[in-house]
Amino acid sequence: MSRIVVLGGGESGVGSAVLAKVKGFDVFLSDMGKISDDYIATLKEWDIPYEEGGHTESFILNADEVIKSPGIPDTAPMVKDIIEKGINIISEIEFAGRYDSAKKVCITGSNGKTTTTSLIYHLLKQAGMNVGLGGNIGKSYAYQVATEQHDIYVLELSSFQLDNVYDFKADIAIITNITPDHLDRYGHNMENYVKSKFRITRNMASDDCFIFCSDDEITINHLNQIVIKAQKLPFTQKTEVEQGGFVRDDKMIVRYKEQECDMYLQELALGGRHNVYNSLAAAIAAKVMDIDNESIRNGLATFQAVEHRLEKVLSIRDVLYINDSKATNVDAAWYALECQTRPVIWIVGGTDKGNDYSSLVPLAKEKVKAMICMGVDNRKFHESFEGIVPKIADVTSAEEAVKLADKLAASGDVVLLSPCCASFDLFKNYEDRGRKFKEAVRNL
Ligand code: ADP
Repeated sequence: MSRIVVLGGGESGVGSAVLAKVKGFDVFLSDMGKISDDYIATLKEWDIPYEEGGHTESFILNADEVIKSPGIPDTAPMVKDIIEKGINIISEIEFAGRYDSAKKVCITGSNGKTTTTSLIYHLLKQAGMNVGLGGNIGKSYAYQVATEQHDIYVLELSSFQLDNVYDFKADIAIITNITPDHLDRYGHNMENYVKSKFRITRNMASDDCFIFCSDDEITINHLNQIVIKAQKLPFTQKTEVEQGGFVRDDKMIVRYKEQECDMYLQELALGGRHNVYNSLAAAIAAKVMDIDNESIRNGLATFQAVEHRLEKVLSIRDVLYINDSKATNVDAAWYALECQTRPVIWIVGGTDKGNDYSSLVPLAKEKVKAMICMGVDNRKFHESFEGIVPKIADVTSAEEAVKLADKLAASGDVVLLSPCCASFDLFKNYEDRGRKFKEAVRNL
């Protein structure tokens, strides 16, 4: 019996271990840190041996293949040893793909993955298809392949999840956009990050489809250097295209083969220019999946915003509070500011990933009346926005931030949490930051 070792005991690792068990492998799971109680219960339920709080070499280096969770970098000492020993390392996606014959719609990109993935899932589900949602979102893909049966999967794939795919093939692949993010994991080399995103197009054949943003320079530059066999379907807000999606006047239009589907932008459930891109990408995918126009329009009009993505929380004394805690990079915050039509009190801050804020300066000048920096080290915000924004203040909790925003806001303003940064200095993660913000707003 061949032996599979899974590194990492989170959603992805535990799902992989369950699938390996179902497929009859000798499985072992190892985690450097602590495994949460829920996942331990799953491992016990499936009778899967595991260790936590460290890796035991002798249990790992005898593997025939290792499945590495996406959070573990190649520079981790255990991973280096595995590579040195010549043991094959794959990702959960690669492993689960071997046992899944469903059609796969796969989405990657720097921003908009979760929104676009959820939109497509909503469109297909509403049209009555037997579809699973997975990858970086909800239940792991591997766990679903082990325990459920779907005709189609819609999978959100981060670049970390794509790093160890080799034979996996998407039927429809989408890259929403590519802007600098996570460069710390890619040797501060943008080219490596771009290549990792494009791994989503590996192995695609001429009857597959690749959907991408042709307004995105980084995507286009890379696309010009490589050969992709799949049919290319661009989406754009700048020109009209023969096949793909575009905007004309107040409508979005999708063309695929002989068919055309249009919809008023005003009817889209999600506001903002970035969501026009996401809606275009989702509608093209739905058209390729042969969903009728009425269902596409209906789906795009009824979709509920995903939590922490430009989520409207409450309006208090005519001040609207928006939770965009998931805006953990500069580009996401750019779109959040861009779609504001009222004066903004902007809550920013957190762990800086080597950000360059210069692209935000014109929008800040035009729209932001005060900035509240919620972070341990706010120096870079002060340096970048002093003299641009009339007032900049520092706070160290969501409660303090919201109380100060309430003091500064006048009727008609917007208080926007769109932090441009990761959350790990003051919060557990971006969800924790968003929830604490919402709680503070509700307590006003
Ligand atoms: P991801 O899963 O790629 O992180 P999300 O859909 O969770 O993307 O959105 C993350 C952040 O990026 C949110 O602040 C959201 O408002 C913003 N965003 C969503 N779609 C886009 C897009 N197409 N371009 C730029 N920013 C976007």
